[in-house]
Amino acid sequence: MFEIVGNLHLHTTTSDGTGTHDDVAAAAARAGLDFIIHTDHNISLKGIEGWYHDHDTGRDVLRLMGQEVNDSYRDPEVNHLLCYFAPFELNHVASKPQSLIDTVIDNDGLCFLAHPLERPGYGRAGVVYPWVDWDVDNYTGIELWNAMTDVKWELRTIPRGFRGAYFPKFAIAQPFPELLAKWDELLCSTGRKLVAIGNADAHAMSFRAYGFTRTIFPYEHIFRCINTRLLLSTPLSRQLNKARQQIRSALQHGHCFISYDLLAPPHGFRFMGKSGNQRAIMGDSLSLDKTATLYVSSPRKAKLRLIHNGRPVIETYNSFLHWQVTQPGVYRVEAYRHVWGKERGWVFTNPIYIE
Ligand SMILES: [Zn+2]
Ligand SMILES: [Zn+2]
Repeated sequence: MFEIVGNLHLHTTTSDGTGTHDDVAAAAARAGLDFIIHTDHNISLKGIEGWYHDHDTGRDVLRLMGQEVNDSYRDPEVNHLLCYFAPFELNHVASKPQSLIDTVIDNDGLCFLAHPLERPGYGRAGVVYPWVDWDVDNYTGIELWNAMTDVKWELRTIPRGFRGAYFPKFAIAQPFPELLAKWDELLCSTGRKLVAIGNADAHAMSFRAYGFTRTIFPYEHIFRCINTRLLLSTPLSRQLNKARQQIRSALQHGHCFISYDLLAPPHGFRFMGKSGNQRAIMGDSLSLDKTATLYVSSPRKAKLRLIHNGRPVIETYNSFLHWQVTQPGVYRVEAYRHVWGKERGWVFTNPIYIE
């Protein structure tokens, strides 16, 4: 198993970010990312995809082009959709969420509901952009943890804004409990696989109050926060089309987990299952028999919580967890660590589906 780490939601000066494509790629290299996917609003540029070589660190970062699409004539502009691997711009279907989703999927793309639930922040950040058309279907999954959504809420007053601007590591806590509950509800009610990803939604914007201005969450810092880690069966290819396919396949199958990297290095965190001769990693299905067992292995001790159909079944402070499975359903793992004065979310895995 080969683990790569990347960020799939970021903005440049092409939309409302403050860095160029190269600024963002250089920041990703400094933060140690293997890949990034550009998701400027309602636009997809040609000629950006490929490896960016950062001379300062000597690292190469694979950059791919995605789009964050919404109906820009709708007020407020809710229903943001992260679209990957679609071969053309999608603005012609942006006003109809289901048509937008179907167009992406029919063209071998993947799509995720971006920051599906939000809480209001300070000033202009008081406007929220949640997903509201919940009767849609056919999408790949949801963005379970969006760092900027978390920051927006955490910096909801001027004192909190100053603290967040100067001590950003205190601001990020965990995915909103109501969004975790919504994901569990969708997994149980739709009966289909829904992949979760976690992202920066990097803009490197400024916090302004009383004449002070400070860039909050510069690209390099936020790329060390909420990322998505993909599990590949072979090392990431140096051939662009092959590498795209590897990333696409891992995302489509949910062979990935979300991590808050600043809390502790999450590399090597695993959630696996076996039943008879079958083996599963996160995102896979497994048939239930009397030998069915789930395993969690963590590179550091953490509060490990196994969730079954939305309900915790076991919780332990340890670096491993074993569970003998007797019930079918959707199993996923959360890991928390107590850092900087409170418990914070560290790892959120995709489920193993026991049939
Ligand atoms: Zn958005
Ligand atoms: Zn965004």
